[in-house]
Amino acid sequence: MARYTGAVCRLCRREGMKLFLKGAKCFSEKCPIEKRNFAPGQHGKDRKAKIVGYGLQLREKQKTKRIYFTLEQQFRNYFERAARKPGVTGELLLQQLERRLDNVVYRLGLATSRRQSRQLVRHGHVEVNGRKVNIPSYQVSPGEEVSLRERSRKLPVMEGVREQTSHFSVAPWLEVDRENFKGRVLALPKREDINLPINEQLIVELYSK
Ligand code: SF4
Repeated sequence: MARYTGAVCRLCRREGMKLFLKGAKCFSEKCPIEKRNFAPGQHGKDRKAKIVGYGLQLREKQKTKRIYFTLEQQFRNYFERAARKPGVTGELLLQQLERRLDNVVYRLGLATSRRQSRQLVRHGHVEVNGRKVNIPSYQVSPGEEVSLRERSRKLPVMEGVREQTSHFSVAPWLEVDRENFKGRVLALPKREDINLPINEQLIVELYSK
């Protein structure tokens, strides 16, 4: 599966805000947003034009795509699936993004960033209901248990993860057992459970043109 392999801090600088893509570094003084909060590139500092209309919708879509670490086609597929279902399209779009296995692993505090959780899933360290699943986009359903595999819990990296995620608050639609590196999806996430600065209506407007 294709994925973005460029410098991730550029993505935050492009959006002008922290997207928390790098784990511990995002909470430290080394975060480039703290020192250079302007768009990357030679003329990044000079671009001060106010973004309105289409530009605003585009930036909202790019930001959301980057937060969840998805590429354009996959993101568009999520939108089209949401648009076909009865209900509020923007909320259904976010719900699918939240239910991705890599996002659930991150939300449970089993990884310090969605990027790291994606790697844990791809490398076969994650189980759903006791069976290995290595597909980051797998949609986790209510009632399913997500855990780290027994031998993966002893990985040196997990010591740091445990420390760095101890302050993470768990979303109300999830239940976590930090001691045993596992958690469960209790319900589908509602819009108010998703504490991200996203205006999904702008994305719906962009794709509905
Ligand atoms: Fe974004 Fe984290 Fe890089 Fe800061 S350190 S720019 S929040 S990815």
